[in-house]
Amino acid sequence: MSYDVIIIGGSFAGMSAALQLARARRPILVVDAGHPRNRFADASHGFLGQDGVAPATIMREALRQLSAYPSVDFIHGQATSATGELDRFEVVLEAGAAHAARRLVLATGVADTLPDIPGLAERWGQSVMHCPYCHGYEVRDRRIGVLANHPMSSHQALMLPDWGPTTFFTQGMVAVDEELAAKLAARGVAVETTAIVEVLGEGLAISGVRLADGRSVALEAIFTAPQTAPASPLAAQLNCAFEDGMTGQHVKLEAGQLTTVPGVYSAGDAASPMHNATLASAAGVMAGIGAHQSLIF
Ligand SMILES: Cc1cc2nc3c(=O)[nH]c(=O)nc-3n(C[C@H](O)[C@H](O)[C@H](O)COP(=O)(O)OP(=O)(O)OC[C@H]3O[C@@H](n4cnc5c(N)ncnc54)[C@H](O)[C@@H]3O)c2cc1C
Repeated sequence: MSYDVIIIGGSFAGMSAALQLARARRPILVVDAGHPRNRFADASHGFLGQDGVAPATIMREALRQLSAYPSVDFIHGQATSATGELDRFEVVLEAGAAHAARRLVLATGVADTLPDIPGLAERWGQSVMHCPYCHGYEVRDRRIGVLANHPMSSHQALMLPDWGPTTFFTQGMVAVDEELAAKLAARGVAVETTAIVEVLGEGLAISGVRLADGRSVALEAIFTAPQTAPASPLAAQLNCAFEDGMTGQHVKLEAGQLTTVPGVYSAGDAASPMHNATLASAAGVMAGIGAHQSLIF
């Protein structure tokens, strides 16, 4: 089947792009494997009108609204390859079908890699989090640990006192010089240089962390910045250029969410150093509009 635009990834960015194209009455296909990045969290926060709503509920409603437009096809599945050039792209799905399109929108998100510490990964999105704007309010006034995973992790440590009493675990990643020590002290942040070796607690809750020297520190929440990488190899297959962000590489963009490959647009976490549902959705809108207008002008 041939489409004007195939959108790969049907979450905040992809469905926002699709909605613009659907309303422009263009024949489009959305392919989504159903693994959005925030699937580990029970609730999504900070998205206007959807604050506190479960991620799956937001996506279900978005898909219901999108499906009302007659020019939209939606396939639940994995796209395994994307090849071609402007006006002649081909997307092959895991199930074997191949679809053609004049434009592509890659809204495939990123994958997170957490520090390898027992007890951490299973609490991801529950009591272990990365974004204070997304989940800080829910742990306000509780004992918070910031686990360094990056030389810039001190930024996170300097922010978190707005939500609760904060200890910064430098984990051998951050050298606390005199200037940084003064900034942390001014924000009331305690600094612990002995490494965390285990996260402790019942079920998905955290009661504390065990340190390499055998001590334990009581905590109720941990914030850490995971390393990120493209969740899909499709942008690389299409020869899109990448650039470095704070936590990993993302697709490089020209104006209007166009990648360095003519006809290929990208949006959301896959194409941004700033990861947030509203920003992904806004970028998706821009990618949808960019792809649509490139079919006209
Ligand atoms: C634990 C956690 C909680 C978060 N909570 C919040 C929050 O409360 N508020 C907030 O603003 N932000 C939150 N975020 C950030 C937010 O989840 C992301 O910014 C947002 O999901 C990015 O949207 P996206 O559409 O770019 O990518 P995603 O939502 O990650 O969606 C990408 C989609 O593409 C699909 N896909 C990938 N490759 C393929 C392929 N080859 N074929 C088909 N489909 C493919 C995936 O299956 C997925 O459905 C959170 C992140 C995490 C990790």
